[in-house]
Amino acid sequence: MSVDTVIAGGTLVTASGTREGALAIDGGEIVGVGDEAALPDADERVDATDRLVMPGVVDPHVHIGDHVSIDSYETATRAAALGGVTTVVDFAWQAYAGAESPWDEPAPLLDGVEEKRANAAEALVDFGLHGGILREDDDLFAELEDVVEAGVTSFKMYTAYDYGLSHGFMERVFERLAEHGAVGLVHSEDDSVCEARTERLRAAGRDEPEAYPESRPDYAEAMAAEDAVRLAREAGAKYYGIHTTARASAEVMERFREDGSRVRAETCVHYATLDDSVYAELGTLPKIAPPIRAPDDVEAMFEYLRRGVLSVVSTDHVAAARADKEDRPWWEGPFGANGVQRSLPVFHDEAVNERSFSYPFLVRVMCANPAETFGMPEKGTLDPGTDADVVVFDPDATHTVTAEENASKADYSIYEGREVAGRVRKTFVRGELVADDGDVVAEPGHGEFLEREIPEWGT
Ligand SMILES: [Zn+2]
Repeated sequence: MSVDTVIAGGTLVTASGTREGALAIDGGEIVGVGDEAALPDADERVDATDRLVMPGVVDPHVHIGDHVSIDSYETATRAAALGGVTTVVDFAWQAYAGAESPWDEPAPLLDGVEEKRANAAEALVDFGLHGGILREDDDLFAELEDVVEAGVTSFKMYTAYDYGLSHGFMERVFERLAEHGAVGLVHSEDDSVCEARTERLRAAGRDEPEAYPESRPDYAEAMAAEDAVRLAREAGAKYYGIHTTARASAEVMERFREDGSRVRAETCVHYATLDDSVYAELGTLPKIAPPIRAPDDVEAMFEYLRRGVLSVVSTDHVAAARADKEDRPWWEGPFGANGVQRSLPVFHDEAVNERSFSYPFLVRVMCANPAETFGMPEKGTLDPGTDADVVVFDPDATHTVTAEENASKADYSIYEGREVAGRVRKTFVRGELVADDGDVVAEPGHGEFLEREIPEWGT
C-alpha cells in the first residue's frame, strides 16, 4: 500500500505535546502518525527537517465581503492560505432596514447563509459561518432551527452600532440557543457610553488618532460583557466572548466562567501583540473596535490565556483600503484591520519567542480550541482520521512584515515593519498543498463550506 504524501523529518506539534516523527496523508485525511520507517511509502515525500509540522490554524473570527470588508473570498482565503490558516469562520447576516445592512431589504438569516455558502466556488481554505442577528423580529425564531441544521451552530449579536440588540431580545435569543446547544457570541461594548464619549471628543476637537481609544474605554467593554454573560448564564446558553481586549473584561469572563462548560472567550492577535502606542505610530489605520489597549492589558491577555480564561486567539480580519482609513478624523473612517495572513507568525513570535509559551500552547489557542469550541472535530488536530490540514512552519526564519505581500485587498498592515521569527513554508488543506513558501499554488474552489456540529463544551 502507498499513500499520497508523507511529511517527514520534522517536529510534530499537537495540543498535547511535541514529538519527532512523520505524518502520512491519503485521500485528504491523516492516515498515520509515527516514525517514518513505520509509515507506508508515499507518492510524495515532504522534507520537514528543522520545521514544525502542526495542524492548520482555525481562525473562528474573520469578516469577508458584505458591508464590512473589501476582500472577496478569493483574496481573503489566499491570505489565509499564505498564513497557515486552513479554516476560517465568517459571518452570514440577517438583513435589516438601515444604512449598514448587508442588503437593502430585510431578509432572513437563511438567505445570508445561502449567499455565503456559494463562496465555496472561490475559496482556497475551508470555511464555516456564524449567524449574525441584526434586528429584533420574531421571524428569527421561526428559522433558527433550520439555520442550526444548515451547520451554523453559533450566533453573533451586538450591543453597539445601529444594529445593537436590547437585553430583552438577547435574552430571548440565548434561551433559544440553549434549547439547541448553540453558542452565543456578543460584541460587547456599552453603546451609549461609547457614543457619548465620541461626541464629547469631537466637540472638543480631539481629532488626533491617539484620542480614539478614549472613545471606547475598557470599562464600556466590561460593562456590556457582564450584562451579556449574565443573560447567557441565566438562559443556560453557551457564551463565547469575542475579541476580549482588556484586563477589565477578562476579569468578568473569569468571574462567570466556573468550570468552563458554559463561558469561553477569545482575544485577538493584535490585542496580544500591540498596545495603544500604535495610534501615534500608525494614525487611524489600527482603528478597530474595541480599540487596541494599554500595555497592562497586553500583559493581561497573556495572564488570562495562561489560566485558560481566554482559550482562543483569532484575528477579527477585516479588509479596508488605506485611503478609506486615513486622512480623516478617526470618527469618520471604517473599523477593522486585516490580519489573517500574519496571525501565526506574529503570535508565534510574541508568545513563544518573547514570552516562552510552548508550541502545544500555540496549537491549543490557534488550532485545537477554536475547532473544539465551534464544532469542527475534523480540524485543529493531527489525529488519524481527521482532515489533513497541516502547516509546515519554520520557527527560526525571520521576516519583516510588509503590506506589499498582502494577498488581501487591504493595502496596509498594522504589523508593517515588524520583524518576526517564524515563517509558514507549506499549507495543506485536506491533503492538497495550497500555499508553498509564499506562493498560492491551489486553484480557488478547493475550499469547502463546513457544516459545523453542535459543540460539546466540557471543562
Ligand atoms: Zn469581528
